[in-house]
Amino acid sequence: MSIKENLEKVNEKLKNAIQKVQLVVVTKTHSIDTLQEAYEVGLRHFGENKVQELLPKYQALPKDICWHLVGHLQTNKVKYIAPFVHLIHSVDSYKLLQEINKQALRNQRVIDCLLQIYIAQEETKFGLSFQEAQAILQSPDLAKLQNIRIVGLMGMATFTSDTEQIRQEFLSLKTFFEQMQTVVNQPNVFLKELSMGMSQDFEIAIACGSTMVRIGSAILGNRSYA
Ligand SMILES: *Cc1c(COP(=O)(O)O)cnc(C)c1O
Repeated sequence: MSIKENLEKVNEKLKNAIQKVQLVVVTKTHSIDTLQEAYEVGLRHFGENKVQELLPKYQALPKDICWHLVGHLQTNKVKYIAPFVHLIHSVDSYKLLQEINKQALRNQRVIDCLLQIYIAQEETKFGLSFQEAQAILQSPDLAKLQNIRIVGLMGMATFTSDTEQIRQEFLSLKTFFEQMQTVVNQPNVFLKELSMGMSQDFEIAIACGSTMVRIGSAILGNRSYA
């Protein structure tokens, strides 16, 4: 299957959503040639999970691509992506937000962020609990971070074939998202994006209210980890 054919299949499913869903193609481990091919079929939102892999791809590819960081971000790497990153999906601490704010200020821009929430029943996933996320969203100091905007939440469901479990996990995030929309009142928080859904579970995610899906293998084929 070609990227174009895979993309048509995915788009067909995204069209079933009642809400508008942004597709982010997750390009990690794929070559610059493959990314170029994805660009040529019209994709413009690319997601990577490692800063050191993102940088050479950013440099090699057209400048109208919107780059999403979807993997764990260390504070000492923020400075490398701050000049151009479109959206950071994986904010999991207040300290990281402070660093993103500092580097955004240096670059005279505002960086959009999502708080990554831990919804899976697995021990390996990064992210905040609902309680920790709410504490950040309601922190009295948050408004001082004028060069970041929290525009939504991100979550990953458990890797399982139990679709009911996946649905429950996505619904728990959707419910929390709606609660936060009503209780949080901060000048730099605009909760509009709900980033949930990957190749295996994006149809469930859009049925649960996702506004942004992060899809790799269903479009680009299987990843080969060298
Ligand atoms: C790799 C990755 C994806 C995409 O995974 P696929 O199963 O290939 O669609 C989505 N989100 C994150 C955070 C990832 O690391």
